Order: sequence, then structure tokens, then C-alpha cells
Amino acid sequence: MSFDRLWTELEPIGRHPGTGGYRRFAYGVAELECREWFVSTATDRSLDVTTDRNGNLWAWWVPEGVNPNSPALVIGSHLDSVPDGGAFDGPLGVVSSFAAFDSLQAQGFAPTQPVAIAAFADEEGAPFGVACAGSRLLTGELDADRARALRGRDGLTMAEAMRAAGHDPATLGRDDEMLARIGAYVELHVEQGRGLVDVGSAVGVASAIWPHGRYRFTFRGEANHAGTTRMPDRRDPMIAYASTALAARDAALTAEARATFGRLEVEPNGTNAVPSEVRAWLDARAATDDDLERLVARITAEAVADSEANGTTVDVTAESVSGATHFDDSLRDRVASAISSSIGGAHVPVLPTGAGHDAGILTGAGIPSAMLFVRNPTGVSHSPSEFAERDDCIAGVDALVAVVKNLGS
Ligand SMILES: [Zn+2]
Repeated sequence: MSFDRLWTELEPIGRHPGTGGYRRFAYGVAELECREWFVSTATDRSLDVTTDRNGNLWAWWVPEGVNPNSPALVIGSHLDSVPDGGAFDGPLGVVSSFAAFDSLQAQGFAPTQPVAIAAFADEEGAPFGVACAGSRLLTGELDADRARALRGRDGLTMAEAMRAAGHDPATLGRDDEMLARIGAYVELHVEQGRGLVDVGSAVGVASAIWPHGRYRFTFRGEANHAGTTRMPDRRDPMIAYASTALAARDAALTAEARATFGRLEVEPNGTNAVPSEVRAWLDARAATDDDLERLVARITAEAVADSEANGTTVDVTAESVSGATHFDDSLRDRVASAISSSIGGAHVPVLPTGAGHDAGILTGAGIPSAMLFVRNPTGVSHSPSEFAERDDCIAGVDALVAVVKNLGS
């Protein structure tokens, strides 16, 4: 099975020796190495590789007699990671796609339409703060000027980082020619929850993606000496932040939603200084668009009240918000039944997820898309301990093979 070889090749790239987590940030050194792996893996298979205007990678399988301009069945995922992410989130879909190609070739299957393997750029939004940036730029959902100006943690803008990596940022933006080439997109992904474990299935199909958003809370106060400034005289923005984080947890608990402050920047960031500014990023998700709006409104109201109570101020900026995604019903049913038939008619669970994906962005742009999930025994993701059993990964490859055979012929 070529899966093992492909997996072993990609596995060491960008893994931090201390944490065991991955640091494959868009247009950074490790991510560029992953891209090189993609290009050489595709080239070894005589697939044509293109990078589109928005940095997304494509490997094209166009058998003899197939019109290369007809809409393609696209499979794939992404190669970048969150800070200290796991090995499976993204790469599992790309590796499985190449392994499925190898299996289909070995079986002598030739699709009657082009099939492409895609690796979408900057899916996690780790460096520049906007998730699914590559697919959002492709569909025009993310404005090109805004994207170019987004500044990463290392101080470089997306435009500067792209240029340094050999991409021309001037070409960013909605790409109708490229969109017309995508007939349908099927993304395989490790599950980021325990839905499949609970029902005892190796592979499932997505029904919907919860609406979700990222919001930057900027709490401002006054820097001062930690020793000489009396407690009542302080305007400490950390206090309002801390109360807001507690309120967010309570609000999400009550609403059966999710609210996470996972990133913080403090000025001047000195142990012996009352901070002047605290920037905190809220990741919020809920079952419906209305639920999400209510949740964020409640957390924002709390932040404003807590700031006023502490003589500080707060600004809230929505950095990216995605509405609920309902995957194409008929594609989902066809994908589920193709997989079911390939495993002797066994039940294939259909389940929602709280995680965003490029397949959701493409669905929003009217491209029929579907997702396959591979069982995650602990449900842990965005962590070095993220895992999937090899047998389940192989079941994922087999499911992808069944899907390409069904949709691509
Ligand atoms: Zn992912």
C-alpha cells in the first residue's frame, strides 16, 4: 500500500523535536517543503502540477481521451498546520488522495472526467489569522487587498511572505477560470471529535459544518509600575480580559456552543508592568447562525461591561466569520452509498462537525462538495497527540477509491 510510504515521507517535515507537534505555517520553510513533496509526488505519477493564482496546489489526472477542460472531480485537503498541530489534520487527506490514485491505477481504472488532487493554501490561518485563506481567495470571499495586508506573527504581511516564497501576490483574488474547472470537491479529513468512535465506524460522511468565527478583542488601559501603582489606581486591561474569558466559558456552556480564547498578546509583556494593552482572540462556534450571533453578542457585552468597571476600554473586530454550511444533499447521499457498497452494504454514519474546512468554503461558492471523516480514537485534534489508526486510514483510502470510481465514471 503506497499510503505507508507517502505517509513516512511527509511525516518528519515541520515536526518540532521538543513538542512533537507540527509547525507548517503557510509560506514558511516547513510548509514550502511540504509543497515540494506534493510536487515531486505528483510528478513521479506523471500528473501535471499547477499552482493557482491564490497559492493552492493542484495535481491533474487527465487520462487519454478525456477533455482536460471539462469540470474535474477534485479530492484532497491541506498541508499546513496550527502551531504544534497533529500529523493528520490536512495531510491525511492529501496523502490518502495520492494513495487512492495509486490504487485506482493499479486496478486499471481510468476516470471519464479529469480528477485533481488539491492542497489548499493556508487552511488553518495560523500565520495571518484568516482560516481557509486559499479557498476564500479563490472564491472571492476574502478580499485580495485585505489578504495582502494581513500581517503575520513574524511581522511579514501575507504579500511579503508569498513573495519570499516565490509567489506573486499581485495575482490574488477570485479566479473564475479555476472555479469552472472544479466540478465537485470531496475532502477526506481526520475527524476532530468523537462522533465515529461512539458509533464504531472507521469512516463517516459530513452533513454540515457549524457556523464559526474569529474575533479580536483589544483591551486598552494604562501601563504602569507593578510595585508602586496602588491597586485602586490601576487601569489594567488584563482584568477585563480575564473576566471576559470566564464569561465566554459560561455563555458557551449555557448555549451548548463553543467559545475559546486560545491566543493572547500583551503589551508591554513585562512581569513587573501593569499591561497597557491585551489582545485576545476568541474562536466561537454554535449550531446555528443565530446561536453564534447571540453567543458573540453576549461575550462582547460582557467585555464592554468588564472594561467599564475597570476604567479600561475594549474594541471587538470580527476577523473571519463563516455561516453554517450544509453539504450538497445528493452528493452526500451518493458518496455515502458508494462507500457503503464498497464495504458490503455496512452503514456509513452521516455527522456534523464544529470544524471549518475548505469544502465548506467551496460549498458556499456553489460548488457541490462533500467530506469524509476518518475515525479519531480520542477525538483530540490541533494537538501533537492527534491520531488515527493505520487500519482506519486505509479504510479512508478505500472509501476515497470507491467515491472516485462512482463519481468519476
Ligand atoms: Zn484541517
